[in-house]
Amino acid sequence: MQLIYEKSVSGRRGVGLPVSDVPAAQPLPETLLRTESAELPELSELDLVRHFTNLSRRNFSVDTNFYPLGSCTMKYNPKVLEECATLFEGFHPLLALLPGGEELCQGTLGMLYDLGQLLADITGMDEVTTQPLAGAQGEMTGIMLIAAYHRARGNRKKYVLVPDSSHGTNPASAAMAGYEIITVPTAPYGDMDLELFRQAMNGEVAAVMMTCPNTLGLFNPHIKEISDIAHAHDALMYYDGANLNAIMGKVKPGDIGFDVVHVNLHKTFATPHGGGGPGAGPVGVRRALIPYLPLPRICMDDGGKLFLETSSAHSIGRTAGFFGNFGVLARAYAYIVMLGREGLIRVSEQAVLNANYIRVRLKEYYDLPFDMTCMHECVFSASRQLPHGVRAIDIAKYLIDHGFHPPTVYFPMIVKEAIMIEPTETESKATLDSFIGVMIEAAELAGSNPQALHDAPLSMPVSRLDETKAAREQKVCCEGERAR
Ligand SMILES: *Cc1c(COP(=O)(O)O)cnc(C)c1O
Repeated sequence: MQLIYEKSVSGRRGVGLPVSDVPAAQPLPETLLRTESAELPELSELDLVRHFTNLSRRNFSVDTNFYPLGSCTMKYNPKVLEECATLFEGFHPLLALLPGGEELCQGTLGMLYDLGQLLADITGMDEVTTQPLAGAQGEMTGIMLIAAYHRARGNRKKYVLVPDSSHGTNPASAAMAGYEIITVPTAPYGDMDLELFRQAMNGEVAAVMMTCPNTLGLFNPHIKEISDIAHAHDALMYYDGANLNAIMGKVKPGDIGFDVVHVNLHKTFATPHGGGGPGAGPVGVRRALIPYLPLPRICMDDGGKLFLETSSAHSIGRTAGFFGNFGVLARAYAYIVMLGREGLIRVSEQAVLNANYIRVRLKEYYDLPFDMTCMHECVFSASRQLPHGVRAIDIAKYLIDHGFHPPTVYFPMIVKEAIMIEPTETESKATLDSFIGVMIEAAELAGSNPQALHDAPLSMPVSRLDETKAAREQKVCCEGERAR
């Protein structure tokens, strides 16, 4: 694909301006005039349309193909929700903060307030802030709330405890909030080792940060016991709810002992995820942590009117501008209302069913380090293919040639040659079957013709890249110069 400047043809135009019928103004001062004409691409409208349309076709997206990226919930979201997000276009978020503004914004504030209530119900928490703009920012907000809680009670705590299967943002967020990290290994049964956890717990632990199901896709059967042990040491339980489509409507984190929860609206609740677009990571807390929530807080008076609380002695302060990523919040609200309680339960059931279908169909062909019922995702290992010189990355690249986005590979780091597949609730059995077919083909090729896997992908403009270098030193090449 040529760059747009290289397509430029001198004299070609996309628009024709009419002859001006306005008299020329005073001539501009000589010093302001260009000495050379501006360097702009010269193209017709059709050149331009084709350029951008062709570029867009190089993008892989859920709208075009299956995208089973584990721990990320790359799913299809109903397009009607895009329409819903635009319904609030006329609202400027500063309006609510002006004198008398609350009166004019009751509908908008009502949507945010109701969304908070719905998420509180889903997670089993007492109040939710919608401010954080991503999962990781939700984690940091949540840990800052926990720190404020302990400080107010005169407890100086030093540590946050995480299992070694945790998402990388967990220890990073806790460290940014000022804590040292204690990592607890995973036991052969696929969850945080209960005995080692017991030994690691002490009075200086501020919080235990977990995701349940964990990044192996497994629900921890000891979770209630873990939260009881944590609470006995005056530590709070933090739930990383980035991917809630495993348990939504089935289990509330609040019911299994968690005190603070963040949710990724851009994974579970209908905002397309990936590509670095806007997200939202609302945080729910138990009553004891409400005084520390970010401001402004949307509150309801006795008459049912909404108002903004803009000052409080204990709040950790503002964590984002205005009320968070408003369009993302509007999509999530519409999604929840559209599906209702029964619909959300079906989302979880379907996500879990799809992941288990793939787990069972592929376990004959790939090593399954933790062979038990999974939740929304399953983690294989390419260790059985390794003796043939075939690694997880080769299988991932082979899938590209067959129209599938690779699953997550090499994460969670506790699984050698990990292949982490999350099919999501929105995929049909037919799609899963064709994916499974290609995965089986790859497993067979590993034995018969490993070179075919090493050569993949063959159908893309670029083949194997040094991925770190490609991300850090982007170099967009022209046609004919196949990047290596
Ligand atoms: C995606 C994810 C996060 C981080 O969310 P971001 O919005 O990308 O910051 C945290 N934990 C888990 C388990 C995740 O899957």
